[in-house]
Amino acid sequence: MSVLKIVSNANITEGLWNESLDSHSIIPDEFDGITYYRVVKKVGLLERGTVVTDSGIIYDFPRIARILHLENGIKQSFNNPFYVEEKVDGYNVRIVKIQDQVFAFTRGSYVCPFSTDRLVEFFDYDNFFKENPDLIVCGEIAGPENPYNGESPPYVTEDISFFAFDIRTKNSDQPIPMEKRYKLFDEYKIPTVTRFGRYTPSDINDLKKHIQDLNEKGCEGLVFKPTDPSEKTVKYVTAGSCLRDMKVTSSLMIEYQAEFFTHRMLRSLFYLLEHHGNLDDTFLKKTGDALLQPLFESVKKVAEGEMITERFKVRFNKKQNIKKLFEHFHNCKVDANLVRQEKIGQHWHVEFVRRCFPSYEVIQKHWDGHSHFD
Ligand code: ATP
Repeated sequence: MSVLKIVSNANITEGLWNESLDSHSIIPDEFDGITYYRVVKKVGLLERGTVVTDSGIIYDFPRIARILHLENGIKQSFNNPFYVEEKVDGYNVRIVKIQDQVFAFTRGSYVCPFSTDRLVEFFDYDNFFKENPDLIVCGEIAGPENPYNGESPPYVTEDISFFAFDIRTKNSDQPIPMEKRYKLFDEYKIPTVTRFGRYTPSDINDLKKHIQDLNEKGCEGLVFKPTDPSEKTVKYVTAGSCLRDMKVTSSLMIEYQAEFFTHRMLRSLFYLLEHHGNLDDTFLKKTGDALLQPLFESVKKVAEGEMITERFKVRFNKKQNIKKLFEHFHNCKVDANLVRQEKIGQHWHVEFVRRCFPSYEVIQKHWDGHSHFD
C-alpha cells in the first residue's frame, strides 16, 4: 500500500504529508533496503517517535505517568483491578515486520542495528510474524553489554536479554488487552518482564512487599496496567534505582537538566518515608557518592588534560551490523569510536568509547580560568 494511503487513515492529507517532509517534521530514512519515515515533531495524530512504513504505521510507545507515593498513587489511579509487572531497566524497542524483514525500532524511531542484529536470539519471530504480521512486540532490552544504557538489572549478569511487556497493532495507538497479550507471549514463548498478576487497590500491602523486595534485589520498580481502558498505566520506582540513575549520569551532570537529579532525589526521599526507611549515614553517603564521585572523576580527568569518555561493550551476530551501529551513532550525533572487535564463539565482541565533548569543554574552560556569570 502507498504511504499516502496509509497516512490518510490517520487523517494526514497529501498536502500535510508533503509539508511535514519539507519542514523536516517527518524524515525519510532507510535500513537494509527498506524505506521508513520518522516522525520527529508531532504531525496531526502522529506523535514524535511514530514510524510510517508501507506496511503500516507503528505508533510511538506512549509515555507512562509516574506516582511518587505508592499507596496514595494506587488509590488515585485505580478503582478497578490492574495488572502488575516489573519495570525492567534497559531501553525500549518495538519489534515489527516490514515487507519480509523484522526490525527493532528505538523510542526515537530509528531502526537499531544492534537490537535488530540480536533479535534472532530473543524468540522465534518468523513463526510469530507469519501468523501475526500486523502485530508489534514491545519490550525492554537490558543487560550490561548494551550500547545505550549504563544500568542493567541484577539478574542479567552478562550480554543482554529481551523482556516483552506489550503487544500493539500496526495503524493503532492502542495496546491489545492484557489477557490476550499474556496469552500470545506464552503461546509463542516470548520472554517477558516478571508478571506479578492481577491486583486491586486493597492489595496495597502485597504491592509494598513486592517493591521492597525489588529494592533489596537492586531492581528498578513496578508498572501498573489497568483492566479498565478508562484508567491509565502508572509506574513507580525503588529508592535504589534513583541512586543508581544518579550514579551513572553524574559524571556528565553538566549535560543534564537539573530536574533530572532533583526528581530522583525527591523520589528516593518519598520512597524512604513511605517504606519506613531512614535517612541514615549509609543512605546519605550513598547519595553523596552517587552525585559527587563520578563528577569529581570527570573534573580530575579534564584537569589532567584527558577527554571524558564512556566505555561500552556489545556483542553482534553479523560483522556488517557493527558498521551500521556506528552509522547510526553518526546520524544521532554520538561521538563513538570503535576500539576492539573480535570473534569469540558465536558473537563478535565489540568495544567502543564515547567521547563526551560538551562536558569536557565546559569543565576545561572553568579549569583554564575563564570567568563567567552564573
Ligand atoms: P516516559 O514514560 O515518561 O517516556 P522515560 O522514557 O524516562 O519515561 P522510564 O521512566 O524508564 O522512561 O519509563 C518508561 C519506560 O519503561 C517504557 O518506555 C519502557 O521502555 C520501560 N518499561 C520497563 N518495563 C516495563 C513494563 N513492564 N511495562 C511498560 N514499560 C516498561
